[in-house]
Amino acid sequence: MTRIYNFSAGPSMLPAAVLEQARDELCEWHGTGMSVMEMSHRSKDYVSIAERAESNLRDLLAIPSGYKVLFLQGGATGQFAAIPMNLLRGKSTTCYVNTGIWSKKAISEAKRFSTVKLSASAEAENFLTIPARSSWEVDPEAAYLHYTTNETIGGVEFQEIPDAGGLPLVADMSSNILSRPLDVSRFGLIYAGAQKNMGPAGITVVIVRDDLIGETLPGTPSIFDYRQQADNGSMLNTPPTYPWYLLGLVLEWLKGQGGLAAIEAVNLRKSAKLYSAIDQSPFYSNPVDVACRSRMNIPFKITDTDLEKTFIAEAKSAGLANLEGHRSVGGFRASIYNAMPESGVDALIAFMAEFERKHG
Ligand SMILES: *Cc1c(COP(=O)(O)O)cnc(C)c1O
Repeated sequence: MTRIYNFSAGPSMLPAAVLEQARDELCEWHGTGMSVMEMSHRSKDYVSIAERAESNLRDLLAIPSGYKVLFLQGGATGQFAAIPMNLLRGKSTTCYVNTGIWSKKAISEAKRFSTVKLSASAEAENFLTIPARSSWEVDPEAAYLHYTTNETIGGVEFQEIPDAGGLPLVADMSSNILSRPLDVSRFGLIYAGAQKNMGPAGITVVIVRDDLIGETLPGTPSIFDYRQQADNGSMLNTPPTYPWYLLGLVLEWLKGQGGLAAIEAVNLRKSAKLYSAIDQSPFYSNPVDVACRSRMNIPFKITDTDLEKTFIAEAKSAGLANLEGHRSVGGFRASIYNAMPESGVDALIAFMAEFERKHG
């Protein structure tokens, strides 16, 4: 078996130890005579798997009591709609911060249910920076303030939690959840699709403050109703049992790494060395404001765009895959989530230096 370094933005690398454990347990889980995939979601065995994943997530993120943790389907995109359906609570206005492509998608979905006020936008700056908090306009009558903590495509990440101006703060953390310690108490709702930094595709985590749920928009489908899902342990219908189990294995792996403070130190080291390699070279460049560069998704370019195809092909032969930039921005992008070993970043930096030597 040859595992390559996979820089895909998502679905993305999983820790090798997790895949090996899943392989070992694939056909028979813990002497039950069956695979996790074949278990009833109501069985004692499966419920223990599900509950353990939740309690590990609560531990890792130090989630205070007074928050529900939901395991849902429909991806972060499903939540773009579920959030206004659940959190409007009789109001008609919502506030959104626009820092890139994922913010824009959240905004366009929210417009189907509410009057969206743009509190701030970096569109005029080509999404290369984050507007200073002092310039944001937050409507005190709005139901909540939404932002995207890490723009997966643009490579722009908030380094601090913004002041929500008294509104419940709602955050799309799909591409940086669990990459660093987090003060969950600052948020009304946090959501994330698993397939970037938490597990496989097919499961979405929602962490929501108790007092915000229970007053859904008329017509809200039951599966998107946080109150109903919370009352049913996220098993209002059959949940994605296998992704939930794999997510649990990733959380256990993360605990074994020393938790979020320890993984943050690794993430800081990995991203700092890659940015430094880019910045020190006249051949490569990253245009993002240094103060808000992402630790997870690092876009970069070369001046001679004719060389892009050669770069991708040679990288692939060197065991470095999926470095193409998003189709909307071109260039390259290295996604280096928790599961990307530091040796993968080192191999990329060495490859880039060699490519520059040959073609620069
Ligand atoms: C990938 C991504 C999404 C979309 O996730 P789906 O699970 O495909 O709906 C939303 N927001 C961010 C920040 C993402 O990176």
